[in-house]
Parts: sequence; structure tokens; C-alpha cells
Amino acid sequence: MFADRAKIIIRSGKGGDGHVSFRRELYVPNGGPDGGDGGKGGDVIFEIDKGQNTLGDYRHRRKYKAEDGKEGGKRRCHGADGADVVLKVPEGTVVMEAASGKVIADMSGENSRQVILKGGRGGKGNQHYATATMQVPKYAQPGQPAQELEVMLELKVIADVGLIGFPNVGKSTFLSRVTNAQPKIANYHFTTLSPNLGVVDTDNGGFVIADIPGLVEGASQGVGLGHEFLRHIERTRVMIHIVDAASTEGRDPIEDVYKINKELEDYNPEIAKRPQVIAANKVDCIYQEDGENPVDRLKQEFEPKGIRVFPISAVSGQGVKELLFYVKELLSQIDLKPLVFEQEYFPEEELITDNLPFTVVRDETDPNIFVVEGPKIEKMLGYTNLDSEKGFAFFQKFLKDGGILDALEDAGIQEGDTVRMYGFDFDYYK
Ligand code: GDP
Ligand code: MG
Repeated sequence: MFADRAKIIIRSGKGGDGHVSFRRELYVPNGGPDGGDGGKGGDVIFEIDKGQNTLGDYRHRRKYKAEDGKEGGKRRCHGADGADVVLKVPEGTVVMEAASGKVIADMSGENSRQVILKGGRGGKGNQHYATATMQVPKYAQPGQPAQELEVMLELKVIADVGLIGFPNVGKSTFLSRVTNAQPKIANYHFTTLSPNLGVVDTDNGGFVIADIPGLVEGASQGVGLGHEFLRHIERTRVMIHIVDAASTEGRDPIEDVYKINKELEDYNPEIAKRPQVIAANKVDCIYQEDGENPVDRLKQEFEPKGIRVFPISAVSGQGVKELLFYVKELLSQIDLKPLVFEQEYFPEEELITDNLPFTVVRDETDPNIFVVEGPKIEKMLGYTNLDSEKGFAFFQKFLKDGGILDALEDAGIQEGDTVRMYGFDFDYYK
């Protein structure tokens, strides 16, 4: 089972509704409005937990919900804020919108904590709505609705060097020889299913190396390389391409290199351009009888292309030191700026402007009032601070972009008419 990928549903808390109430005092028959504001809904927050190294926990539970804000109370009582939900993930987890695959957050490096979904703002109580002409406002603002989103979590390992190659070429053996990692070494085709990391010490410094999960189950039946595992390579800077130079399974190592590189190219041409080194493994098993030495063939094929070939034996350790020394050299020539995935999806914006329906109807008793309703409008009103100039301008733009102004025109609105939306009245001017 892959423990480095999980799809979950996250939901922020709804804002608590504002309250409608009136002061009740002895001998004061009509007290003013005193309904309190609702509390803010909880946020959904992602946080790096350095102690975790898989997304296994997220495969057992699918829904994560922050707490709703509480409703406001009488006597200007403010409702309690809802608790946040904090989802701990291993470093290197990328959070993506599930449907589009667009990146919302890259939980790595400096970004150790990010709010992914904001809780809804609490609605204002009716205490705020008393005006000279409206002394007994029976309206309070509803809390802003919760946001819900399906997200894909992917652990994209952060390592300087990735080991790539067909199953059984000796990747795990190599990793266990050069690092403290203890991967499973087995002579079958169900290879490592989550990446193993290890730290290599060389004479010229250390680096982190990852054994990239190889072919998935079914590979032994000739199924092509799955793209599943390729995402782990995305953050590596150099690749050690391991081949079985002794052809113990009958494949040609030169063809192997081309096949794997073709997969890289198809997956992400950027990765295919990154520096590679070929480790011609299992040289202890090469029996020179006739024909050319496979290591020489590999060298002739790839060294003119700038890819160095190192004969090694992961089992005996022969040649390993020279290879690692060269890899460290390569790394030190590379610009070491961290490979970070940029945010492409902004839940707040996307979730507002999605195409929610709305209606425009004339008020039954007053034909000069146009009532606009719909979850989209309500959501937007919850988001916007209409008291600020900027907020108001934003709201106007929303009405225009969302097609609401057009709908009002179609309904026959005239200059000076009133537009009513969830307790807010606006004068209409073109
Ligand atoms: P991986 O699938 O690429 O991780 O390959 P493994 O590390 O699991 O190795 C597959 C098989 O090849 C195991 O039986 C290893 O003992 C064997 N093997 C790995 N490296 C060498 C080597 O340098 N020489 C020999 N003779 N066998 C090796
Ligand atoms: Mg392995």
C-alpha cells in the first residue's frame, strides 16, 4: 500500500449567526436591540510534524472538520469561536485541490504552518442594525458558511539525490551500504513502496539520498513504469541511475537507461534534464567470456553525452566510494535553492467565485424593491466588510462579475430602486 498519498475532505467551521434580541428591563417596554455577534468558525490548518514520515494516518479517516462558531446571545453576548483543526503532516507534503491537482500548499522548509481553509466570520447581531428609521431591527447577519474542499496530499520527498532504476538492479542494497537506512532487500518485484531516505557521508561532505519506489505491483508481467513513483524524484537534484551491468535478469543495461529516461521525459521534461550518473552495478557478477565488457559498452554509449559511468558492486562495496565522491562534486556545482511548489489554487477566491446559483425577484408588496438571494450572495456578504471602502468596491465588482447586475437589469430595475440582500438594502444607481 502507498502510504505517501491520501485524499481527504476538509471543512472549516461555519461562522456563528448573529442574534436578534431586545433589551428587557422593568418599566422599559421597548428596549433597544441587544443581539450579540456570532463567533468565528475554526480554520483548517496544516502543520509539519518532523516526527512523521508517511501519510498513513490519513488513509484511515477521510473527513476533518473544524468547529463551528457559536451563535451570538442576548445582551450583546459574543458567541464563542470554533476550534481550529490542525492536521499534522510529514515535511515535504504537498496539498493539492483534488479535482484539478493544483497546489494549495507545499509543507516544506520555512512553510511549517499554513491555514488552508479559513473559518467563516461570525454574523453581526441586531445591535448593529438600529438606525434612525429602523429602531427595532429584526434582522441579524447569518454567520459566513463553512468551506469544504477535497484535497490530495502527496508526500514529495526532499532529498539531494534519488536512486532510480528497474527493480532488482540493487537500489536498496546500495542505499543500505552507503547510509544508515535499512530498506527491504529482496529478489522479487514488489519493490519499496514508500521512499527510504538515508544520509551519506563522503570525504567531501554529506547529502541525503532517497531510494525511489520502483515499479509497482504487476511490473513482473511487463506493465510499464507507473508514474506513481516518479513524483518522488521531483525534488531531487541529481539522480544515480542504477543498472544491472551483469544482466542477471537478461535485460540490456543500455536499454534500461533509455527506457527509464523516457519515462522521466514523459512525466516531466524538467526532471529528465537534471544531472545523472550511471552506477553499473553487480560488476562482481560479470564473467568475461566473449564480447565486450558491459561497463565499456555503457561508457561508450553515455559518457560522450556527459553522463559518467561508474562500475560498482553494491554487495562488495567496490567502486562505491568513487561514485559518491563524484556525486557530491556534482551537487556542489548545482544551485542549491530549494525546490518549492508554488501555490496555484487559492481556496478563498475559488470557493467564492464558483458558479453558485442566485435569484432576483421583485418584492411582493413593494415593486421598487428587488430581492437577490442565493448561497453565493450570502457567502459573499459574509466575506465582505461593507463598511470599508475597499470592501464595498470589492463587493460591487463581485456583483458585476457574478452577473448579478445584469440579472437586475433584466428584471427591469430602475435608477433609485432598492436592492435587498440578506437584510442589507442598497440604492441602485448605474
Ligand atoms: P532493488 O529492487 O533495485 O532495490 O534491488 P535490491 O537491492 O533489492 O537487490 C535485488 C537483488 O540483487 C538482491 O538479491 C541483491 O542481493 C542483489 N544485488 C544487489 N546488488 C548486487 C551486487 O552488487 N552484486 C550482486 N551479485 N548482487 C547484488
Ligand atoms: Mg528496493
